[in-house]
Formats: sequence, C-alpha cells, structure tokens
Amino acid sequence: MPDADPPPFVPDVTLDLVDAGWWLELRCACGRMTQVPHRLLARAHGPRARVPGLLARFRCRTCGGPPVSAEWIDNPAGGAPGSGYPPKRRVPLRLPPSAPPH
Ligand SMILES: [Zn+2]
Repeated sequence: MPDADPPPFVPDVTLDLVDAGWWLELRCACGRMTQVPHRLLARAHGPRARVPGLLARFRCRTCGGPPVSAEWIDNPAGGAPGSGYPPKRRVPLRLPPSAPPH
C-alpha cells in the first residue's frame, strides 16, 4: 500500500483500539531493536492499558535505556526477501516526554 494512506488507527491510545494483529517495534540508542506482539502486551497489561504508558515503562534489555523510537508494524516478517509477505506497514508513535533519549 502507498505510504500516503492514513494510518488504520490512532497510534497512541489504549491497546484495545489498536488492531490485535500488529506488533510494537521499539529501538534503543544502543542499537537494540525489540518487537513485541500486541497480543502479548494486551495479556500482560490489559486491553485498557494506554500505549504511551507502556512506552514510558519500557527499558532496553541490553543497556536499560528508554526507547528512542517506537512504531506499530503490521508484520515483523514483511518485506523480507523470499518471505512472500507484503512489505510492512508502519505507524510511528510519539514517545512520551518521560522517556527522553539519552
Ligand atoms: Zn539499549
């Protein structure tokens, strides 16, 4: 799908308003990238958990730092050569002010 498409949902809301098939992709200043399935977040925090609150609590498993970028992606394997999956769609999230880059 073209990039000009509007996002399918408002990204920084509660988990129940985000499509359950999507994944949260977080990047740290140290270079670590973490992908967490929506279903896992909803099971751990409940469907009414607000996404900005989850981002504020996330810490990198390598260095302990907060995320420097966060996006919803529709398919972690999308666009990989030979995978047969369509390219990923991405919905960027604004990081909460309580999780500044360092
Ligand atoms: Zn890190």
